[in-house]
Amino acid sequence: MDRYAALVEALRAEIPGFQIIRKDCSRLHRAIHKALVIVTFGRMRSYLDSYQTTIGRTVYVTCDWDDWPPDRRYVTLRHEAIHLRQFRKYTLVGMALLYVLLPLPMGLAWFRARFEQEAYAESIRAAAEVWGCDFPRGAAYREHVISQFVGPSYGWMWPFRRSVERWYDQVLATVETVR
Ligand SMILES: [Zn+2]
Repeated sequence: MDRYAALVEALRAEIPGFQIIRKDCSRLHRAIHKALVIVTFGRMRSYLDSYQTTIGRTVYVTCDWDDWPPDRRYVTLRHEAIHLRQFRKYTLVGMALLYVLLPLPMGLAWFRARFEQEAYAESIRAAAEVWGCDFPRGAAYREHVISQFVGPSYGWMWPFRRSVERWYDQVLATVETVR
């Protein structure tokens, strides 16, 4: 069994009701996509084709998900597993309030940034596990992750680049000491 299949099995045991569903088949996600295009002034158009999204016990995936190599799916699912646990801890209503609205829905979304920092830290650890420690140390991956926080993808959730860079490098430091 590959790492991805093993993780799916472990999550089924850990989160009863856990499922993976295609995002483009979901009316809810098509509605979210339209709303995001509007509130980000057209800057976020890739919600349906480039982002996996967890709500409650369901991970909604892009239509090309099954074509991804298992290791890539594994790294992404490690990130989404953090969100599954956040939903279990804070409940659907709690997450909707904290993740979407507080303190601001865009530009200063402290809780969203905290939730995503927890999940992207797991992405960094999983990437190091699969592709080696040097992978998350590379400039391209670092910039990719940092731009998620400071750019339009998540509504400019934490636009303070220096603090996001500091956070990233702190996570990297723990990856290096573990290995
Ligand atoms: Zn996330």
